[in-house]
Amino acid sequence: MEYAEAYGARVPKVGLGTWQMTGETCYETVSTALELGYRHVDTAQMYGNEKAVGRAIDDADVDREEVFLTTKVSPRNAGYDDVIRSTKESLDRLGTEYVDLLLLHWPNPLQSVSETMRAMDHLVERGAVAHLGVSNFPEVFLDRAREAAETPVVTNQLQFHPYRPQRGMLGYCQDNRMLLTAYSPLARGVALEDDEVRRLAEKYDRTPAQIVLRWATQHRDVVVIPKSTDPDHLAENLALFDFKLTRSEVDELTKPSLLKSARAMLDGVLSEFR
Ligand code: NAP
Repeated sequence: MEYAEAYGARVPKVGLGTWQMTGETCYETVSTALELGYRHVDTAQMYGNEKAVGRAIDDADVDREEVFLTTKVSPRNAGYDDVIRSTKESLDRLGTEYVDLLLLHWPNPLQSVSETMRAMDHLVERGAVAHLGVSNFPEVFLDRAREAAETPVVTNQLQFHPYRPQRGMLGYCQDNRMLLTAYSPLARGVALEDDEVRRLAEKYDRTPAQIVLRWATQHRDVVVIPKSTDPDHLAENLALFDFKLTRSEVDELTKPSLLKSARAMLDGVLSEFR
């Protein structure tokens, strides 16, 4: 496994995304992932699966300290007292005394971001949270969050894949020694159908998913959190670091597409209602 580092956080470059997996499926998937060697798990208050994630970590043959565990405060809990109360509830559900990383899931324009960050600082002081971050933050909100927080903001978690290469935000994160955590790094499967991805998969004798995840992890300061419930997919998504795309292949795969990014996003939102 390779690691990315920022402000004292040492983060495995591949983590497990857990959106839209709950109950026993979530428990089984996280258990399998930990057995396979995953040491980075991403959950959120909004996913309704913190209990299953926590139980799987607790039951695994892996020390809690070895797992980099992230949860996210729901935007409706962005007020000072709600951040503190809801994070305590998250810790109870996760069955742990601390999370490695606490993110605000989305900016909440109805709440002051400095209030949110001050509450997060308080949780760091109390030892309930090791590192702070945000998610889905445009630059203007990120500036405000970084100014307000005493604790360094270590990451912005965003949609990041060949159709959404986030050039501006990636540069911002790199310039400020932050990480970019890539969510939906497979564009929810849309990127796996790409002709160039398929050609490179044949060339390197890898799967399309490995090509797409390798594309992401070859960017400095980027970590990925693909989601899968399939044990074979989980294993292949972890096996990325024994081959490398050339610089021009990375460039060829980078093809910003609003349409394909929107398709990936929409697929996620619509599948909530299926
Ligand atoms: P994703 O990881 O890009 O794609 C997941 C899809 O790809 C699933 O349908 C999965 O199906 C399939 N897949 C995974 N590995 C595969 C492989 N090796 N070969 C073929 N298909 C494969 O999308 P995502 O779930 O939206 O994003 C990942 C994580 O990011 C989420 O779970 C969540 O933790 C986080 N996230 C955060 C936000 C935010 O607002 N902060 C938003 C979205 C997502 P199988 O299960 O069948 O493998």
